[in-house]
Amino acid sequence: MTFRTTRVRYLAAILPFITVALFAAFHAKSSRAQKVPTTTYYTHGRIYTNDPEHPWAEAMAISEGKITCIGKTDHVLLDCGGGQEGVETINLKGQFLMPGFNDAHVHLGGAGADELAVPLTGVPSVEEMQKRLAAAVAQRKPGEWITGGGWDHTTWPEKKFPNRQQLDAIAPKNPVILTHISGHVAVANSLALKSAEIDKTTPNPPGGEIEHDALGEPTGMLKEGAAMSLVKVRIPDPSPEQRRKGIELVLQNVAKNGVTSVQDYSEWADFQVYQELKEAGKLTVRITEWLPFNLPVDELQNMRVQGGTKDPWLKTGALKAFTDGALGSRTAAMLEPYSDDPSTTGILTNDPEKLTAMAIQRDKLGFQLAFHAIGDRANRIALDVFEAVAKANGKRDRRDRIEHAQVVAPLDFSRFAELHVIASMQPSHQTTDMRWAEDRIGRERILGAYAWATLVKSGARLAFGTDYNVEPISPFRGLYACVTRERPDGGPKNGWEPQEKIPLEDCIRAYTSGSAYAQFEEGKKGELKAGEYADFIILSNDLTKVSPAQFTKTRVLRTVVGARTVYQTN
Ligand SMILES: [Zn+2]
Repeated sequence: MTFRTTRVRYLAAILPFITVALFAAFHAKSSRAQKVPTTTYYTHGRIYTNDPEHPWAEAMAISEGKITCIGKTDHVLLDCGGGQEGVETINLKGQFLMPGFNDAHVHLGGAGADELAVPLTGVPSVEEMQKRLAAAVAQRKPGEWITGGGWDHTTWPEKKFPNRQQLDAIAPKNPVILTHISGHVAVANSLALKSAEIDKTTPNPPGGEIEHDALGEPTGMLKEGAAMSLVKVRIPDPSPEQRRKGIELVLQNVAKNGVTSVQDYSEWADFQVYQELKEAGKLTVRITEWLPFNLPVDELQNMRVQGGTKDPWLKTGALKAFTDGALGSRTAAMLEPYSDDPSTTGILTNDPEKLTAMAIQRDKLGFQLAFHAIGDRANRIALDVFEAVAKANGKRDRRDRIEHAQVVAPLDFSRFAELHVIASMQPSHQTTDMRWAEDRIGRERILGAYAWATLVKSGARLAFGTDYNVEPISPFRGLYACVTRERPDGGPKNGWEPQEKIPLEDCIRAYTSGSAYAQFEEGKKGELKAGEYADFIILSNDLTKVSPAQFTKTRVLRTVVGARTVYQTN
């Protein structure tokens, strides 16, 4: 027997096994593929499409991540290729289905860090904050940093900022920094101040403030990013594993709340985690990432190339700049002094002239601009900058945005529509702030605050979001605030400044197609119609039928992004 025949015989002997193995591999592959059917029908539902021309439907057909057909059940089943192989039909049995929410303003990275930090949201007193800090100290070695956030002194009995001594008493051996719920101020203990070399003699950084006591010693309170970052830059970065763990927890929370797209401002390292998750097929929400406006332009261009601008799941978007702080901490820039503290008009965090020059340069490179502006002075400056940009660089569909647009002077409302500036707002901020907003700015100016209806009437486009992790991600809280302007537990009767309520359809639109427009993705998402992404949610309540008090009790039963179910209750 020659070597050759041996080989042939050997091959002949093993051929059946190879064939079986190949067949098995092929079969496994095809049966895996069958788990994602070529067409999925959702039938017999109450489908709110958010398409003004056809607001209601019963059924839709989905293929390759997009809606191919929507309308009456019979029509969809008959006319949309029904009866093919690889078809899955889900009978909604009358359940309410609507477009997924597109949160136009979130900080997923911050939320991820919160997951790993001391949770202080809702602490009713400084004593409770100390108790939670003590629990964290017990879990750490001396010298290890402790961070936390979410405290809100306006809900405490004495309504006063905390101080370093209160933290030192609990954590004498660990540097500690605990950020206010607004994200604009923080309290640090003595070790943390020491690590940043902050003492009596340290001058205020431009755009920030180191608070001092009667003796001139720092109190521990640091106001605005410029001051907080003196300490925060000393905190060692989380390890990539920690970062990923935090973000994975956050993504679960996002999916559970029916949010299918977010417009995010986090760190570049967070974006890299999103990229990893996308590669692994684990991204469960579409993310558009904003970049820091203040970075040099060549760096921004590099990030835009690295992050891309086209991928429907993950890409880079607008440049985010800050013009001022926040109202609660009296760091929002106002045209006139604060009503409850005439010594201050707030803080401008960027010099307007410099801001204008930088904006013109960045706009010329095709970047969309998103300016944080809370006070009426900051809003005016943002509008002035956008006006100067259009004048310098000519007409373009640029869709510049003001993030928050919280207090707007009467003369400035019409400028949003004139300049095609999007008001990117967060209805739940109104719920949180109404307790003290009028104290801060007085009766007259409050009329231009959180003024959704006035903005809509003036022709401005709205995009809604939450500012998660400053507020919870739940869009139902936002919808409730939008239609009632009441506290979560009800009141004031008829709502706070009720003239600014807007109808539910407008609230939903701002939260879906309005947000999509603000990221140049109208026609791709936000409405349920043929050709748009299959991004939708099924809810336990029909929002158009229940009272607004039921909104926050509404449960998401299923969240679908690009036809893939990313969350489902059992
Ligand atoms: Zn924000």
